Amino acid sequence: MDLAILTEYRSGFVKLPPHARFPTVCLHAGQEPDPATGAIITPIYQTSTYVQDELGKHKGYEYARTQNPTRMALERNIAAIEGGPAAFAFASGMAAIGAVATLLKAGDHVVVSEDVYGGTYRYFDKVLTRYDLSFTYVDTAKVEHVARAIGPSTRMIFVETPTNPMMRLTDLGEAASLAHRHQLRLVVDNTFASPYVQRPIAFGADLVIHSTTKYLNGHSDSVGGIVVATRRDDIEWLTFVQNAAGAILGPFDSWLVLRGTKTLPLRMERHNSNGLALAEYLAAHPKVRRVHYPGLPSHPQHDLARRQMQGFGGMIAFDVGSLDAARRLLNAVRLCALAESLGGVETLISHPATMTHASVPVERRSALGITDGLVRISVGIEDIDDLTEDLAQALERA
Ligand SMILES: *Cc1c(COP(=O)(O)O)cnc(C)c1O
Repeated sequence: MDLAILTEYRSGFVKLPPHARFPTVCLHAGQEPDPATGAIITPIYQTSTYVQDELGKHKGYEYARTQNPTRMALERNIAAIEGGPAAFAFASGMAAIGAVATLLKAGDHVVVSEDVYGGTYRYFDKVLTRYDLSFTYVDTAKVEHVARAIGPSTRMIFVETPTNPMMRLTDLGEAASLAHRHQLRLVVDNTFASPYVQRPIAFGADLVIHSTTKYLNGHSDSVGGIVVATRRDDIEWLTFVQNAAGAILGPFDSWLVLRGTKTLPLRMERHNSNGLALAEYLAAHPKVRRVHYPGLPSHPQHDLARRQMQGFGGMIAFDVGSLDAARRLLNAVRLCALAESLGGVETLISHPATMTHASVPVERRSALGITDGLVRISVGIEDIDDLTEDLAQALERA
């Protein structure tokens, strides 16, 4: 398919003003009133197939793995939000990463951020290595480490910024120019930042991935993933492989995420302001040893954060010194919910060493700085005073 047509098909046919600002794009892009009824909200097209007018003549929809209007509206919407020509929605963030991995062939090599999401590491290390793919994990905060890991079979650089839970950053502009000097793709998992805070395509990324489970849906009630692609060959391949492998996002979840992206800018403004306020509160607290948050001047890459991010997001990690102190804190919170995951409107608190990163070997954990006293918060959009009061009373017991 011609890329111009594909772009129009996936992102273009909404009557948005040509220079619509970000909140307007989030709210409207990819959606038009339902052609059958005028419904302002794209309906949940809960159907498996479509009746054809006559043999060989249909309305562009044949079978719902291949085409679904609700899913396609979401794909156009998130493509526009990330500033790319096309997006592909999948059943989970991991399924989205799996689809991107099909751009590789046996023998290929990938350079990966060393503190990449645990599920991504598990998939690369336990599944894809069986297909003769190889991975080198480096501190992508240092571009020279990435450069040194590139070899003749390298095809891709796969980064997360900020990383989980240490909040290390990768300079996206530097990573993109390095990748392109070596004819590699730069893939960015943008889940932690959200496209409100950071749009990697503007810095040269070739592919952007999200677990829509997190900030894009934002309401802790759906699991999904998306890939935004920029290269014509990648768009053609992902169009093919989304249908061929079939791990598509269902219509109800697509509808939920579409509802979520309408308020992305409003939610992220609050996540940003609550995140910064809570990080400052924690940094000044006598029981807190260290706070990892890119919005604090004490963060080693604070300048890069200011250049590359708009606000600093809602993810904070902080160290209370010991497993015992962390346990007392986590058992004392009332408003913050003790749970894995992130990016929802409600504040979640977790213990990386025993929860999200329990499967990471202890030596690797300590090399990354994930101590037993480290606590992670996904700051929600509650009133900031209620959050600081809850942490104050819990820290008293820590
Ligand atoms: C959650 C997450 C994933 C995986 O997404 P699922 O929707 O849980 O499959 C991938 N990357 C990052 C950074 C995540 O936080």
